Amino acid sequence: MIPHPLPPDFIPFNRPHLVGPELEYIRQAVALGKLSGNGEFTQRCQQFIEQRYGVAKALLTTSGTAALEMAALLLDIQPGDEVIVPSYTFTSTANAFVLRGARIVFADSQPDHPNMDLRQIATLLTPRTRAVVLVHYGGQPSEGLLKLLDLAQQHGLWIIEDAAQAIEAQYQGRPLGTFGHLAAFSFHETKNVSSGEGGMLVINDSRFSARAEILWEKGTNRAAFYRGEAARYEWVDVGSSFLPSELNAAYLWAQFEAIETIQLRRRYLWERYAMALEPLAATGAIRLLPHLPDAQPNWHVFALLCRNEVERDDLLTHLRRRHILAVFHYLPLHQSPFYAAQHDERLLPHAECYARTLVRLPLFHDLTFIEQERVIETVLGFYQSDMPTYRAS
Ligand SMILES: *Cc1c(COP(=O)(O)O)cnc(C)c1O
Repeated sequence: MIPHPLPPDFIPFNRPHLVGPELEYIRQAVALGKLSGNGEFTQRCQQFIEQRYGVAKALLTTSGTAALEMAALLLDIQPGDEVIVPSYTFTSTANAFVLRGARIVFADSQPDHPNMDLRQIATLLTPRTRAVVLVHYGGQPSEGLLKLLDLAQQHGLWIIEDAAQAIEAQYQGRPLGTFGHLAAFSFHETKNVSSGEGGMLVINDSRFSARAEILWEKGTNRAAFYRGEAARYEWVDVGSSFLPSELNAAYLWAQFEAIETIQLRRRYLWERYAMALEPLAATGAIRLLPHLPDAQPNWHVFALLCRNEVERDDLLTHLRRRHILAVFHYLPLHQSPFYAAQHDERLLPHAECYARTLVRLPLFHDLTFIEQERVIETVLGFYQSDMPTYRAS
């Protein structure tokens, strides 16, 4: 349990960070007199990503989850369609497609990285396969991404990037979120750039642009009407309320403006963890996640892998007793109470292994030098303790 009340020296897993002008921009949004969605700040945020990443269209959403749900609607996923999804991910990656009646075919992780192992995809295809959802864990693409795009083209499959964690990351000089037909970013409180809850649908295949705007605006042509492109504002398709209010967009705009500073700070903290913990990894006591050559990381996650589950749980307890909140995630979706009975019984050993052994250390903009030292010393202390099972050999 997290101690209550929080001790003064408590180091949380995440602390929201104000870069500066967030509250001023919210004040400006109020002064502009339009608080509903698709106003000035929403437009600024969307144009920022469209120009920075060179994508056909970007739409702000209420969450990364909402962006994935829009993707499933846009692709017209029907009951019985099969969608390939990694098991080691957040529920929304699969849920967005389950809501449309899709059957989820879960794929295992890479042996050396939590990302989906793309070498299996060809063996999972059936005539009902419609789409593959890629999760860029910790802002890193899967090995073999470009080969998968070729395979998808041969088989007429849609590729959706769950780029919830991947803002500002690149592969071969190209931003993640620009490889699939559609992509979803998240601006949840724990992500690099945040508006509390928020997300963005990125449309790389411009055939989806016009319909995306309609789904986003509750099935109406409201956006086109306000641009003077439609004579009447009316109900033209299915849809929902996927757009956030201007208050959220104003907050997000402040974070977008500071995106380079945010990334620099995370990089600095990330590299300090890596430098301090590489010697421990060299002893074999822990493993660190490898970097894909050609990939530009975004420093979203600092994770280490313990040798087994008991040791991982003991490390988390050791940290918590010293008032540091580190966390593990994800429980494999193919074993979840909701989906286990519908999974086809294939074993996914790597996904299960990350669920048992992965630890994420606190990594956020305002983590101080002194706090980070304490996290590092506490992890090292665990392995130097006189408990022989944990001692680094
Ligand atoms: C955070 C996250 C989501 C969900 O994003 P929300 O904005 O919280 O809805 C989906 N997938 C992955 C991989 C995530 O990390």
